[in-house]
Amino acid sequence: MLIDGQPVAGDGRLSVINPATEQVIGTAPDASPDDLDRAVAAARAAFPGWAATPIEERRKALHAMADVIVAHKDELKSLLTSEQGKPHADAEGEIIGGAYWLRGTATLDLPITVQEDADGRTSETRHVPIGVVGAIAPWNFPIILAMFKIGPALLAGNTMVLKPSPFTPLTTLRVGQLVADILPPGVLNIVTGGDALGPWLTSHPGIDKVSFTGSTATGKRVMQSAASSLKRVTLELGGNDAAIVLPDVDVDAVAQDLFWAAFANSGQICIATKRMYVHEDIYDRVRDAIVAYARTVKVGDGSEQGTQLGPLNNRQQYERVLALIEDAKAQGHVFLMGGDVPETPGYFVPITILDNPPEDSRIVQEEQFGPILPLLRFRDIDDAVRRANASEYGLGGSVWASDEDKASEIARQIASGTVWINETRHLSPTTAFGGMKQSGLGVEGGVEGLLDYTNTQTLFRRGKQVSTA
Ligand code: NAD
Repeated sequence: MLIDGQPVAGDGRLSVINPATEQVIGTAPDASPDDLDRAVAAARAAFPGWAATPIEERRKALHAMADVIVAHKDELKSLLTSEQGKPHADAEGEIIGGAYWLRGTATLDLPITVQEDADGRTSETRHVPIGVVGAIAPWNFPIILAMFKIGPALLAGNTMVLKPSPFTPLTTLRVGQLVADILPPGVLNIVTGGDALGPWLTSHPGIDKVSFTGSTATGKRVMQSAASSLKRVTLELGGNDAAIVLPDVDVDAVAQDLFWAAFANSGQICIATKRMYVHEDIYDRVRDAIVAYARTVKVGDGSEQGTQLGPLNNRQQYERVLALIEDAKAQGHVFLMGGDVPETPGYFVPITILDNPPEDSRIVQEEQFGPILPLLRFRDIDDAVRRANASEYGLGGSVWASDEDKASEIARQIASGTVWINETRHLSPTTAFGGMKQSGLGVEGGVEGLLDYTNTQTLFRRGKQVSTA
C-alpha cells in the first residue's frame, strides 16, 4: 500500500484472480484497522501543507503524475488486463484516459465571486478544500474512475485515502508506487482490503468527505455511514440507460455504434445502453444489423491479439448475469443470440441480445452490467420517453436520429444526468457528469465537480472590497 509516502505490506493478503483463467495472479495487502488509521493520520498531517501549496504547484503535480502514468502505459496495460479482463487495447485506452483526465482537470480554476451591496459592503465567496477525502473505486474502470477523484480532490487542496476494489487492486497500487515521489508524503494514500475496509473508511472520524463510485445499494450504505459525522458525499452509482432510436436514423451508419453503446467493456459500464427502444418502422432492420455485426465480434482472453470483448470481472457479477439470463429463459423471452454460457474456465458470457421482451421483465428493469441487450419496439415517441424515464435510475441515455433538432428536443425530456445524441459514453474532465434519482448525488468533472471537493466560504466586510486572492 502507499501510506505517508512509504510502501506498506500489511499483515494479511488478498488473492487477485485473472477473470479470463480464474488463476490467482498475485496478492495485495489486506489492510487492518491500524493500517487505515495510519493512512488517515498521514492524510490529516499532510492536509495543511497541501492546502497552502499554491494551486499552480498542485496543477504541476497532476501533470507530473500524468507523465509517469503514460511513460509506464505498457506495463500498466498488461497488469490491468490481467486483473480486470478487458482487452489490451481497451486497457491502454483506460491508462491513457486516466492521464488525460488528470491533465484536463489541471486546467480548471476555483471561482471567486466578489459582490458589493447597496451599503458599500463587499463580500467574497471562495471555495476552500474540505480536508481528507476517502475515495472508493469500483472494478469496471479501476484507473480512470480513481483519476476522476484524485484529480479534482488534489487540485482543490485536499488529501486522500483511496481504496480500490478488492477485485482490481494491483494496477492502482502500481500507480501509487509510480507517483509516490511526485507528491508530498501523505497527500495520496492507497489502502487495499476486503469487504470490511469500505465501511471502516466511510465511518472513520478522520475522513471529511467520501467520494464513492459503485452500485446504488452500496451507495445507500455509504451515505448512511457518512451521516454519523455529516461527511460530505459524492455518489456515482448505477444506471439503466435507455437508447431511443428514431425512424429517420441511417441504420447502416449507426449499427456498430449502437452495438458498442451496449457491449463495450462487456457491458460493465455504468453508462452502457442497457435498454434499446427502436421505432417499429425500422425495428427489424436495426435488429438484423446489430445481430449481424455482433456475430463478427471476438470474445476472449483480453491478453490475446484480436480480442474485442473480455470476460466479466468477477464470480459475483458472473453469477448475477447468469441468473438474469436464466430468468429470461424461464420466462420464455426470445433470444436473438447468446444465452448459452460455455463451461470453460473464465467468467465468459456470450453476447446476448433479446427480441422485444416485456417491459416489466427483469432483463429490462434491472441493471444487467453484462453483455446483454434487450431490443424493445415502440410506435409512439412519447411512449418511448415515458418508458425510458420509468426507472429509479437516471444516469445517462441517448437519442439516435438524422434530424438532430428533433433528437435534442427528445433528449431534453429524458430524466438523466447525461444524454447523448448519436453517440454514447463520451465524458470530459471539463464537463460535469452525475446521476439523477438513485443514480447518484453530486457530480464529477468540470468546475461543478471540482466544487464538490470544496467548502464554500464567504467573507463580508463593511466598506471596500476584501481581496480577490
Ligand atoms: P460495489 O458497490 O459492489 O462496490 C464498489 C466499492 O465499494 C468496492 O470497492 C467495494 O469494496 C466497496 N464497498 C462495498 N461495500 C461497502 C460498504 N458497505 N461501505 C463502503 N464501501 C463498500 O460496486 P461494483 O460492483 O464494484 O461496481 C459496479 C457498480 O458501480 C454498478 O452498479 C455500476 O453502474 C456502478 N458504477 C457507477 C459509475 C458512475 O460513475 N455512476 C461508474 C462505474 C460504475
